Amino acid sequence: MSRPARCRIDLAALRHNLRLARRLAPGARLAAVVKANAYGHGAVRVARALAGEADAFAVACMEEALELRESGIERPIVLLEGVFSPDELALAEHAALTPVVHSRAQLEWFLAARPRRPLDCWLKLDSGMHRLGLTPREFIEAEARLRDCAHLGQLVAMSHLARADEPGEGEGEGATRRQIADFRAALAGCDLPASLPASLANSAAILAWPEAHADWVRPGLMLYGASPFAEPHPQAAKLRPVMTLESTLVAVRELAPGERVGYGGRFCCARPTRLGVVAIGYADGYPRHAPDGAPLLVEGRLAPLAGRVSMDMLTVDLTDLPEAGPGARVELWGAGLDVGRVAAASGTIAYQLYCAVSRVAVEVRDDSDDQ
Ligand SMILES: *Cc1c(COP(=O)(O)O)cnc(C)c1O
Repeated sequence: MSRPARCRIDLAALRHNLRLARRLAPGARLAAVVKANAYGHGAVRVARALAGEADAFAVACMEEALELRESGIERPIVLLEGVFSPDELALAEHAALTPVVHSRAQLEWFLAARPRRPLDCWLKLDSGMHRLGLTPREFIEAEARLRDCAHLGQLVAMSHLARADEPGEGEGEGATRRQIADFRAALAGCDLPASLPASLANSAAILAWPEAHADWVRPGLMLYGASPFAEPHPQAAKLRPVMTLESTLVAVRELAPGERVGYGGRFCCARPTRLGVVAIGYADGYPRHAPDGAPLLVEGRLAPLAGRVSMDMLTVDLTDLPEAGPGARVELWGAGLDVGRVAAASGTIAYQLYCAVSRVAVEVRDDSDDQ
């Protein structure tokens, strides 16, 4: 492919990040979250690279799970939203998947199923996020009914934190402490809490909340090397970016003060301006709402976005980089430019930038001797 827009994937960095999660939560098993095509990094490629290191994988739906099974992934796979209809339990059985049970309806489907072999289950408590999960009372009752269910395999108790990415900030910290305490209280209300493994921690909690690590951790974003925090964090600083999105300058022009650039003429030259055109746009996943001034890296040096992002191109002010000409390498985010900076400049989060990447050629690098 000759269009220069590229997404480079560094599998050694991926394994480095998983090992950081392991070091931070040494007693826990690890379910690598690879939903949404592994946050845009390629679910099959990521799962294969981690197959020897993760204890399980976690995805959002059946299609994502079956894609991994069809590509030869044999580890347990957790369906984070459970099944969407009772018939999906037969598929879950067939593919040896582990559904979450987060609602009373899902519980009834699970109990009524007649699988030929035991089905594992992750039972979800709503500990305060108020998205998915059973109330504490429902949870304790569900746990007892599952224990009596002849086809139950392994049972894990889980919940999800809403504000673990706000460590050391009064209100968010209090909310996380309450969620941890309410999760523990619900577990303690079950008959045999000691024999019920628990899972609570996403990336932010792995990095910042040791008291939430429990028996199974569920890292997503941190595997891909981005920090879940808005502020610098000493553990997150050890992550290595897995994805680098890049392209090249395909045209450069000189513009006079007062001339305008691109759709809507959003950028107006305040000085004699050297303007570069980069072959990448919102159809490739660069955010269209990025404002003038959003950071780009041209031959390793910062330069500001200038003008609206188009479908296939974007424009950069090169006035302070006179040596950058056509063919120069431009990094949108990755090894040289923190995706979090681009996300913050664009009023979004790294998660969304990663998931939007499409169309670009992918180049995978795997320095397997890397530790
Ligand atoms: C997506 C998801 C995760 C991973 O979250 P990160 O912030 O990316 O680490 C963990 N648990 C559940 C239930 C999720 O949906």
